[in-house]
Amino acid sequence: MVPRLVLDGAALVANWRALDRLSAPGQAAAVVKADAYGLGAVEVVRRLSAAGCRQFYVAHWAEAQALVAAGVLPGERISVLHGLAAGDEPFARSSGARPVLNSPAQLARWQSMGGGACDVMVDTGMNRLGFAPDELGAIDWSGFIVDTVMSHLACADSDHPLNDAQRAGFNAARALVPARRASLANSAGIVLGGAYAFDITRPGLALYGGLPRAELTDVIRPVVAIEAPVIRLRTVSAGATVGYGADFVAQRETRIACLALGYADGYKRALAGIGGFRLGDRHLPLVGRVSMDLVCVDATDAPELAEGDWLSADFNLAEAEARTGIAQYEWLTHLGKRFERVWRDLA
Ligand SMILES: *Cc1c(COP(=O)(O)O)cnc(C)c1O
Repeated sequence: MVPRLVLDGAALVANWRALDRLSAPGQAAAVVKADAYGLGAVEVVRRLSAAGCRQFYVAHWAEAQALVAAGVLPGERISVLHGLAAGDEPFARSSGARPVLNSPAQLARWQSMGGGACDVMVDTGMNRLGFAPDELGAIDWSGFIVDTVMSHLACADSDHPLNDAQRAGFNAARALVPARRASLANSAGIVLGGAYAFDITRPGLALYGGLPRAELTDVIRPVVAIEAPVIRLRTVSAGATVGYGADFVAQRETRIACLALGYADGYKRALAGIGGFRLGDRHLPLVGRVSMDLVCVDATDAPELAEGDWLSADFNLAEAEARTGIAQYEWLTHLGKRFERVWRDLA
């Protein structure tokens, strides 16, 4: 029995709709890179497309290719954030997906392929990807159809002065690019309000239940739940130890349940002493270390629990980040491959 991720399709759609409303006067796209932050990009795209989302962002061409091959999206609705490296040309040409051009060299490569529809990333202070504003003035844009000019906020999850500086820099830079649309905000940037919304916003984390800012607490619903089966129950005497390093020492006679879930599934070792599972309204705390494929919980207060029963992890992204220092982005993108991903689409 493998553990399962129970994915709430209705919450995913509700989160996109809420972010789309908050993006007024613009519209929300969806960032589905890294297999939709670990949830499964094909299933996410299927649901958000049906809900009306018309623009999707991935990091790599292989990610775009997988979505086109699965038949869930035409290439025209996909933008590839890493732009165009040598070797990307064949699929870039055949798919209709747009490169997000990040540098003069990428622009030249796209031009040598005949140009056409693309997006353009402008750097406004992150100093990662994108054209520097002073590289834009000299460009001859004839032969290019720039759909979206965009930039990316470095500090939108806090009230940092760089937010306003990047917005001002973006307004200046986008005047130099003949684009149909403009885009600046990620999930956290949407909270900064209409001045940051432009035509399209690019939420990722918040679609999947992450909370980059406290303002989203009552807006965003959790999407991901972790469930694991009990594969062994035993009762140990006071003084017995459990698991690697004998870290847990039973203070009383204790019923121990071993669940088929571990750090190989993304249930990280940092949850030792913090994590636990739910049975009805009872919390069964983790005992000892998190192993690769197993965790143990104290099930003394759940005498009815039997081998083969399932427990839900008491796991909340924002709280896990606060208590371990591991980012919500990492928790999601490290969710393991061997989970069975089960979508529930109840309203
Ligand atoms: C990943 C990414 C996003 C999404 O950011 P979230 O914080 O997950 O909403 C938006 N824009 C760009 C350029 C990105 O790389």
